[in-house]
Amino acid sequence: MIIETSQQNESFIDHADVCIIGAGPAGITLAQKLSRNDNIKISIIESGDLSFNSESQKLNLGECLEFGNYPHQNYSISHARIRQFGGTSNVWAGWSGPLEQDDFNERPWIEETGWPISYQDLEPFYKKSQSILNLSKFIYDKSIYDYYPKACSNDYLKDFKNVFWQFSEPPIKFNHKYFQFFKNKKNIKLFLQNTVTDLIKDKNQITEVVCIKNSVKFKFKSKIFVLACGAIENAAILLNFQKKNPGDKFNNFNVGKYFMEHPHCTIGYGFIKNNNNKFLSCYSKNKIKKLDNVKFLSGIVLSDKTQKENRITNCVSIFLPNNFLEIQSAVILRYNLALRAFNLNFISFFIQLLKDIKKIYLSAFEILKNFISKRKKFYIISRIEQVPNKNSRVYLSNTKNKYGNFLPILDWQMKKQDLKTLLINFNEIKLNLEKKNIADVYPFDFIKKIQNEKIDKTKDEWDKNLKKEVFGVGHHMGTTRMGEDKNISVVNSNLKVHEIDNLYCAGSSVFPTCGYINPTLTIVALSLRLAEHLESKI
Ligand SMILES: Cc1cc2nc3c(=O)[nH]c(=O)nc-3n(C[C@H](O)[C@H](O)[C@H](O)COP(=O)(O)OP(=O)(O)OC[C@H]3O[C@@H](n4cnc5c(N)ncnc54)[C@H](O)[C@@H]3O)c2cc1C
Repeated sequence: MIIETSQQNESFIDHADVCIIGAGPAGITLAQKLSRNDNIKISIIESGDLSFNSESQKLNLGECLEFGNYPHQNYSISHARIRQFGGTSNVWAGWSGPLEQDDFNERPWIEETGWPISYQDLEPFYKKSQSILNLSKFIYDKSIYDYYPKACSNDYLKDFKNVFWQFSEPPIKFNHKYFQFFKNKKNIKLFLQNTVTDLIKDKNQITEVVCIKNSVKFKFKSKIFVLACGAIENAAILLNFQKKNPGDKFNNFNVGKYFMEHPHCTIGYGFIKNNNNKFLSCYSKNKIKKLDNVKFLSGIVLSDKTQKENRITNCVSIFLPNNFLEIQSAVILRYNLALRAFNLNFISFFIQLLKDIKKIYLSAFEILKNFISKRKKFYIISRIEQVPNKNSRVYLSNTKNKYGNFLPILDWQMKKQDLKTLLINFNEIKLNLEKKNIADVYPFDFIKKIQNEKIDKTKDEWDKNLKKEVFGVGHHMGTTRMGEDKNISVVNSNLKVHEIDNLYCAGSSVFPTCGYINPTLTIVALSLRLAEHLESKI
């Protein structure tokens, strides 16, 4: 049921078995799964409202230091996460797929890799997550070719592996899909516009959380608490607790560290040779009738051998007929939110708008030109699996928000190994496409620059080259990472915070490594797994 404002008077205290903080894909999946057991009383506390509300969204303001300022100042922290019932699924793009088996394994050539659970542990939950995201059968390997247009095959690029995404189209919005369910379910209480500000702890237990709604504080008591506020806010809530309680035993110094994104950039372009146009059609979106009319898209990833030999991570690339992805995933969102939510610096906003209009105009022109031209052009868009990096982190500033909590700062950093991955990925694509006479491939300027200079340049120089090219896509991961060793993790394999007996984290903050694939299917699968675990505890 939805709890109305009038039901929360000043002396109101809520009691639940499981109190979930945050109603995005992670929190909603957990709540709906647990609520199938009528004996479990669930409270879900959400900072946003049913519809977008710029006052709530302002609670997401923060500062980006290094990466994350492209295509707009503080983009990653202030714009690429949404305070609304349904969370960031209100703006997501629906690209879905599971992590690979190898993503869970330790890779000796990359520091701090390896999950404490295996792919096999998660696979049954992945399968159940498909319907939650309105996807088709759990098929993500080359057996999809059985359903693909006949001309497509997987032997174009021998040194790469073909991978697939499924798309929920239009991308499902968790609030639309689950609102009615929440409304009717007697054992769920949904509290909107309630922002959790404090965790109250006694010995090894959280005894209650404090929320603010309309300037009034409320207490929520529960046997178990789950933070499901996204990777930046999960960390910020824990960091605020540590800052306000300096002597407390929960002093895990890994909170906020190992922040990862999926750095995206267009690395180059090519021209199809010898009328090899079917190559591009195999790498464009295909709607498959026999698979519930769901759309599939194929990309290519570096082979395990290339990764091992070069001591790099994974990298996925797609081929698009225009350089439009950045505009789709970042700019549209920026206008959507920026116009509604924030008092931006209007001069810089206007200059950016002109640049974007130019980009949109050029892209449209290019689409037209490509349509009539015999020599088809395409762009190569790549996404790196970021190396776990303890210096890449969320920490607190000295500025407080209106509720007295310290604002998060995002210091998203990359390592040289990430750049090496990008460079080798470009070289391999060029080599493979040219060797097979499929296309001529050319690098974008910044890749050319990296190619021409030594890979052991200082990190600052690399960053200078990349900051204007690389953008994040709201895949915030790693700030409360999972592991059995407290010295390099925050939660254990059951997602419980090591030092606290009844506090759990849900969402991609728990990812120890992030693969190349979009995170939400894994977030949903982990929430289903967590629900099973919590059910056994109550
Ligand atoms: C433009 C864009 C496109 C994307 N496209 C894709 C895609 O194609 N595929 C994919 O897999 N992923 C995509 N993502 C990422 C995806 O949206 C996230 O992975 C997903 O929403 C994370 O779910 P979550 O529940 O963990 O966090 P969120 O969705 O961020 O939800 C967190 C919830 O917690 C609430 N909250 C925060 N703080 C508090 C507090 N103090 N008290 C109470 N409540 C609080 C928030 O209001 C929010 O409702 C995209 C993201 C963006 C920005």
